[in-house]
Amino acid sequence: MELTATDLWDRVLESARAGIPEQSYRTWLSGTSASALTDGELLVEAPSQFHVEWIEDKYGSMLGELTRRVMGRPLRIAFRSSKLPAAAPSLTDPVPQETRTNPVQPVSTSGTSQQASSSTPSGRTTSGLKERYTFGRFVVGSNNQLATAACRAVAEKPARMYNPLFLYGGVGLGKTHLMHAIGNYILDQDGPGRVAYISSEQFTNQLVTSIQQGSMAEFRRRYRQMDLLLVDDVHFLEGKERTQEEFFHTFNALYDAQKQIVVTSDRPPKELPGLEERLVSRFEWGLVADIKPPDYETRVAILRKKAADDRIVLDDDVIDYIAHSCTASVRELEGAVIKLLAFSSLTNQEITSSLARTALSGVLRTESLRDRARLTPEVIRDTVARRWKVRPDALVSKRRTKDLTVPRQVAMYLIKEILDTSLVQIGEVFGGRDHSTVIHSIRKIEQDMEVDSVFRREVEEAQAELRYPVNPHI
Ligand code: ADP
Ligand code: MG
Repeated sequence: MELTATDLWDRVLESARAGIPEQSYRTWLSGTSASALTDGELLVEAPSQFHVEWIEDKYGSMLGELTRRVMGRPLRIAFRSSKLPAAAPSLTDPVPQETRTNPVQPVSTSGTSQQASSSTPSGRTTSGLKERYTFGRFVVGSNNQLATAACRAVAEKPARMYNPLFLYGGVGLGKTHLMHAIGNYILDQDGPGRVAYISSEQFTNQLVTSIQQGSMAEFRRRYRQMDLLLVDDVHFLEGKERTQEEFFHTFNALYDAQKQIVVTSDRPPKELPGLEERLVSRFEWGLVADIKPPDYETRVAILRKKAADDRIVLDDDVIDYIAHSCTASVRELEGAVIKLLAFSSLTNQEITSSLARTALSGVLRTESLRDRARLTPEVIRDTVARRWKVRPDALVSKRRTKDLTVPRQVAMYLIKEILDTSLVQIGEVFGGRDHSTVIHSIRKIEQDMEVDSVFRREVEEAQAELRYPVNPHI
């Protein structure tokens, strides 16, 4: 009897699982599935492109050998990321920035329209949007609430609510993701929807090529026929007058035809001195929404979601560690997870927070390391006093009212936790208390944290503030 692709792959996985560490299996292979079996090839999908590369590199020959054994003959295995479109039909050659090898993808001189764009059966023009950049995969936090709401409104009613929509914020905060989410949402709806995504750099390059090749008319037509035009990173257009001019006319044509335009930038329109005033003022016609770096809770939510989406097992303390160490952007969070997975797999170690510490030590912001070096028992004591709203010298005093004993014990506990100072020395920091008092205090805090989750969180936050100061220089 013929094996189905799924049966075959299940058997291969079963044998593979016996041969490699469980954590590696769970990280790299458990999320894969076979989707087709032809004469010479087994097509296997993995959760991400990173998985694909890793599996091919590390397990490719082993899996090939196991497949040969199960089938009784050699069979090629083709891995593919389930996140990416099978073939990237592209109007604008939007090669994902992070995987781009050749930044300039000029439009070919002949047969451009057939080659560079493709139509789905419903007649919609697809535009190389990244499939996985959807609203469903985007975590909404206080840092991006307005921007997300605006994008959703635009996706539901293009050119009706906010036109243009101008999103701005630092690198790796989700601007491109949200933009693609609008495009994907519209393409998922029934009915025609011509969507083009283009980075400002590509727009510039295509314009240059069109000028050189005398194909400006075609270039103009291409963008002016869109229902939704997504132009990423317009700060790149600063100082490029000819491109701005062209973009200005494209903008007007689309706007007048009541088509939606979405633009991103790393700064608000007013802070783009290299852009012509008339373009800046048009950007301000619609809605300008910013995206800020994610706060701690959002970072945790993003990590949880990424882990679930990519079927990666990350314990809460690992997530907590990453969320504390990577504060600048979502891209940084993602990089940390990938680095951790790779490190765990390479060294055959379970992913724990201590492994995370080792793997990510290079990722940690250097300021926080420097700051940690500056931490002394006194600094910890005084910081705790401030958080608990008592005077630092009151913690040193002999007074034993409850409002003082709690922060005093917390401070002792944190000094031990963070600096591993000896009990005798800790006693000295608190006006020469006995080491048995110190040990009693630390135990008390440990017990209270076990049973009282609110208290536990207060202590953990104090610890986080000390370890990873949010704004160390203020
Ligand atoms: P930007 O365009 O602002 O530089 P991107 O849109 O490229 O940032 O985002 C960087 C990475 O972080 C992408 O992989 C994206 O999916 C992810 N990302 C950013 N914000 C979020 C979020 N709120 N929820 C989930 N993933 C996010
Ligand atoms: Mg971007």
